[in-house]
Amino acid sequence: MTSPPTLQLTVILLGPPASGKSTLSRQLVDRCNARLFRLREYVQSLSEAGSAALDGTSRDSLGWLPDEVAIQLVHDAVSGPYRPADTPVVFEGYPGNGLQARHLADLLIRLDTPVTAIHLRADWPTAQQRAQLRWVCRHCEPASTGHPHRPAQATATSACASCGNTLLKRQDDAPERLLARTQRFTTCLPEIYTALTGHGIPWRTIDSRHPADEVLSAALDAVSTSPSTRSGQ
Ligand SMILES: [Zn+2]
Repeated sequence: MTSPPTLQLTVILLGPPASGKSTLSRQLVDRCNARLFRLREYVQSLSEAGSAALDGTSRDSLGWLPDEVAIQLVHDAVSGPYRPADTPVVFEGYPGNGLQARHLADLLIRLDTPVTAIHLRADWPTAQQRAQLRWVCRHCEPASTGHPHRPAQATATSACASCGNTLLKRQDDAPERLLARTQRFTTCLPEIYTALTGHGIPWRTIDSRHPADEVLSAALDAVSTSPSTRSGQ
């Protein structure tokens, strides 16, 4: 048995919808004993724990929290349960814009934790095709989550491989929502890039159309610790 690869303590994994972020983040978590931070799931865990922190907070049409709320939640998470310490943390799909990126970079640099950003690049036809092939199961995912989000395995007859019930499409994968989310990502990517690299955070772009094992090895190469972990400064 080989020992797990050593990751930078913090990995920021970004990409448009259906670029394969959750597959890659799961692989990084498995291979490197990392923890995974997804804002959506963190918010969900807070509300399941009875937190009133988000009472009365409205979301925009694509389900985004206001920036000041998202920034505060991430600040609390990174200062507490998701503090990059003995085990690495993978931030999947966050930050979502330049403002969030500046705050996260400031915070991580104050904690003196090495960070690497990975951008999974996907073209629109490929992403659209991937989104069409993914399903969710309302029965296998806890009711409190609102709209089911986790990928479900489909049988040959498009039933859930775990429970046998009919699978659904993710609400966010409806064509007009997928396009709007992709456009938002594309619009915000340059400002995120500027904010992170401007803080000395190394940035690696990986083409998500490559085979999964190549994507993973490129990602591991990008995030493995090297003698100079903060080369961007
Ligand atoms: Zn199911």
